[in-house]
Amino acid sequence: MAVNTEAFVRITSELGKKNVSVVAVSKTKSEEEILELYNLGQRDFGENYVQEMVAKAQALPKDIRWHFIGHLQTNKVKQIAPFVHLVQSADSLKLLKEINKQSKKQNRKIDCLLQVHIAVEESKFGLDATELQHVMENLKDLQNVGVAGLMGIASFTDDQLKIRQEFQFLDSLFKKYKPLFTSEEKKPVLSMGMSADYKIAIEEGGNMVRIGSLFFGKRS
Ligand SMILES: *Cc1c(COP(=O)(O)O)cnc(C)c1O
Repeated sequence: MAVNTEAFVRITSELGKKNVSVVAVSKTKSEEEILELYNLGQRDFGENYVQEMVAKAQALPKDIRWHFIGHLQTNKVKQIAPFVHLVQSADSLKLLKEINKQSKKQNRKIDCLLQVHIAVEESKFGLDATELQHVMENLKDLQNVGVAGLMGIASFTDDQLKIRQEFQFLDSLFKKYKPLFTSEEKKPVLSMGMSADYKIAIEEGGNMVRIGSLFFGKRS
């Protein structure tokens, strides 16, 4: 097994000191691999496919906090509504309305992050600044959704300055909307940074990182 427990222990203790939360991104990884980190104390895991997250949640310990980080289709919200801890990739009002509806049915409130498009690539999901403004203005009727902050994925590039600027942009939006977030449970979350760029993300104000390959090895 390729789980890098040494990197996990080093990085989580380093980030713990800085009050940065670590989500271990376990997509495509086995239940055994997840349990390795669970047994070292990790409780927050991130998945990007509904089917896969549902199956893992059923099989694995109930105190795992499951973060949904992939593109979420409205017709699949129902499946994760009973247990998801944080939907990090909310990217439309339509989706938030569906999350609200399904969480109401479950008698709960689901916390979400709004995903903002900060990268240059066309293919990446997320709201632009105008759409984000629109969503923020329309949260009041969504009583079973708590918007806890923002999430973004930087460009896939070696250009560190470009990455830094994208994180700075996201942090500026985070600061702007912070007073308007609606989650009662969570302190405001700025989820940015992955294996390749988490150090830059933290320097630019991120307080949650999503790390996969550094912990679990490369995905095939
Ligand atoms: C896969 C993924 C990650 C983790 O990527 P690594 O480079 O393996 O750390 C983080 N965030 C999102 C949204 C992802 O899809």
